[in-house]
Amino acid sequence: MRWEDTVRRVVPYTPGEQPQKRDVIKLNTNENPYPPAPGVTETLSAFGSEQLRLYPDPEAKVLVDALAQTYGVKPSQVFVGVGSDDVLSMAFLTFFHSDRPILFPDVTYSFYDVWAELYRIPYKKIPLTAEFRICAADYQQENGGIIFPNPNAPTGILEPLSLIEEILRANPASVVIVDEAYIDFGGESCLPLLGTYDNLLVVQTFSKSRSLAGLRIGFAIGSEALIRYLNDVKFSVNSYTMTNSACLCGAAALRDTAYFKAATEKIIATREAAKQRLREMGFTLTDSQSNFLFASHPAMPAGEIFAALKARDIYVRHWDQPRIGNFLRITIGTPEQMEALYAALADILKK
Ligand code: PMP
Repeated sequence: MRWEDTVRRVVPYTPGEQPQKRDVIKLNTNENPYPPAPGVTETLSAFGSEQLRLYPDPEAKVLVDALAQTYGVKPSQVFVGVGSDDVLSMAFLTFFHSDRPILFPDVTYSFYDVWAELYRIPYKKIPLTAEFRICAADYQQENGGIIFPNPNAPTGILEPLSLIEEILRANPASVVIVDEAYIDFGGESCLPLLGTYDNLLVVQTFSKSRSLAGLRIGFAIGSEALIRYLNDVKFSVNSYTMTNSACLCGAAALRDTAYFKAATEKIIATREAAKQRLREMGFTLTDSQSNFLFASHPAMPAGEIFAALKARDIYVRHWDQPRIGNFLRITIGTPEQMEALYAALADILKK
């Protein structure tokens, strides 16, 4: 017996590259190209070092209350974490705890199988349809929980609330987690279904639509019972997940609804224009309702376009995997960044 035999071994998730080089056009990790709301910057500059000496509020009340007010729920229905990755990880640990397999789409956020492996949760991946859609009937089988993003990643495809409700109606004995990381870019949130389904957990993030990927703030909204169970697990792992600065800046971001609306509308407009431009260049695209595009070109393998863009300091995302190996995921940048992308693509495809 060697000590290595008892190590918990995992194949970790690979996040998108954060290049150390400056002056690159970074369209690879779905960050927001615009700064956070001005109130966030003011909050940060008023933040004193005295606030670093003490532990933060373990309940993160400032942020939880602001979220409850923004989304019209009770504070006891809100859970916060270090990005939605932390929230999702805690939710896997808390709610997916049976011998029956959890279900999630095949082609989805690639962190789900990593958490399932890490926590030894049995899982079954349900293939998307040929058009990359989720089929509700596929989720009417024995399971120990269900999770999917809406819009899905990396396809960007949004499913209607009717599909989510069909899945919920068929699964009253499972926790159903809807990962709404990209919902603010034109999608309809399933938060209104919370009144009817106490087994629904909705997870969102400040990383994309609120331009705060670097602060790491995610949250879940659900029934009081679900949130209580989540907090019991969280307080058994780490009491102080949310820093003072994250709580204050997150609350400041929520206060500026006009800025939030304007920034997300700009990204939606750039996305719709980008769909048109890329189609004119021969790309095939899904009808993404997120802050990224999912695009394929019949004349050149995606891996080659990816490498050629990278050589020009334009970073996008590519997975060398079945079904999606010939697609690029391109985050929506500023109109200027997108113009640079179109020019580079035109040059690359000419060859
Ligand atoms: N869910 C999905 C579907 C995502 O694409 C991401 C971003 N990688 C996340 C959750 C996690 O984002 P964050 O931890 O920054 O909130």
